[in-house]
Amino acid sequence: MRRLSEVLRAEYGEKVYKLSLSSGCTCPNRDGTVGAGGCTFCSAGGSGDFAAEFAPLEQQIADAKARIRKKTDAKKFIAYFQSYTNTYGDLERLEALYTEAISRPEVVILSLGTRPDCLGPEVIGMLKRLNAIKPVWVELGLQTIHDRTAVAVNRGYPLAAFAEGYRALKDAGITVIVHVIYSLPGETREDMLDTVRYLAALEPPPDGVKLQMLHVLKGTPLGEQYEKAPFPLLSLEEYADLIAESLRILPPETVLHRMTGDGPGKLLLAPEWTRSKKRVLNTLNRAIAHSIRLSGILAITCYNVSNDKLPTRCPMEYQIMHATRQSIRVRFCRRRWTKTEAEALRRALAAAEGIETVKIYPATGGIYLEHTGQEAALAALDAVNAETLAADPYADDDCITMEEWAARKLHPALKRRMRTEILVEAAADLFLPAPAQFAFHAYQLLKLKG
Ligand code: SF4
Repeated sequence: MRRLSEVLRAEYGEKVYKLSLSSGCTCPNRDGTVGAGGCTFCSAGGSGDFAAEFAPLEQQIADAKARIRKKTDAKKFIAYFQSYTNTYGDLERLEALYTEAISRPEVVILSLGTRPDCLGPEVIGMLKRLNAIKPVWVELGLQTIHDRTAVAVNRGYPLAAFAEGYRALKDAGITVIVHVIYSLPGETREDMLDTVRYLAALEPPPDGVKLQMLHVLKGTPLGEQYEKAPFPLLSLEEYADLIAESLRILPPETVLHRMTGDGPGKLLLAPEWTRSKKRVLNTLNRAIAHSIRLSGILAITCYNVSNDKLPTRCPMEYQIMHATRQSIRVRFCRRRWTKTEAEALRRALAAAEGIETVKIYPATGGIYLEHTGQEAALAALDAVNAETLAADPYADDDCITMEEWAARKLHPALKRRMRTEILVEAAADLFLPAPAQFAFHAYQLLKLKG
């Protein structure tokens, strides 16, 4: 699953920063239109505690840029209207405000947080017009699919309203990002995963998700409830496990916008572990990496070859490093490939239906495929059989066994060569643009032939 920063960098060629802005809207779940008091977890800031105070847009943008530029020389921005319900109010005023925001050349995306029950036909019309100027993202605070929880946290709309709003946005060609909160009172792990399964089954699936642990904040109805009778919250380890499982469920085309939140520290009642964002992110990244490895038991089996041992079949583990509608990147975990295996694999994959480009990185066990359909690409990988790969297992002089690789008991000369190859492959991978990668790979193939 791709992360937002990666997607933005690929699209805009550099890091894109969010300008947290305010539209001056309120929320129908606070002003009595659909409810009073708001969602029980929502702070007075309307779930956007870092947004600017409402002021002329010019000033808000200048202030937000100044805050960002203290840290970095940012050039491209997302105009992000997060707090409250940014499609609720005088639409003429809102359209003028958002048009002004995206008329600036440095603003590349408009992002609006809202509720699915505030997406009537006039709102959709406005979003379509704005989307014709610059990409518009709409962020929907679903939090959970379970209506009993939605009632308990006073969300103020049923799941059916989400489904309707989502459909209207997707029919209008708008990018939709869905917010989910884990550890809402009364929800089990399976309840939370059911929310993710529901999102994964949407047609089309969400363009993005923001996954977040519940922050119980002072001054909110939920905070009062917690102070009177603390209810159980997920531990960091349970949350990390849940995130890893969620990423396995969500489709690869859904972009991960966030997997942890930034609650206002002064207001935080629980859980304490959310205060250390660095520790949380490290734990989450470790859990995700572990989960990807476990899930990547490939149907390919490959002979484990060496010069002095008979081949034995062994399953190979792989990691899906990156997957899009057009490409998939897989890295094998256990060992490098021999030149023969790499060439056999390249030939087999290049001949498979639906595969357009194959790049093989023998020293790092990587494959990059451009395809016309992800299922076809995975099926092609599955269809490669051991016999194909082991066409001539004794032709290479640098085959290594799984045991040697695991124990790093390799001949020092081979180790040195592998280090160099791996460095070159990694550098090519990281820094070369696509045509150069292709040239690099052609060079590798020539080398393999020679
Ligand atoms: S809909 Fe959003 S802004 Fe409104 S009360 Fe709920 S969380 Fe807060």
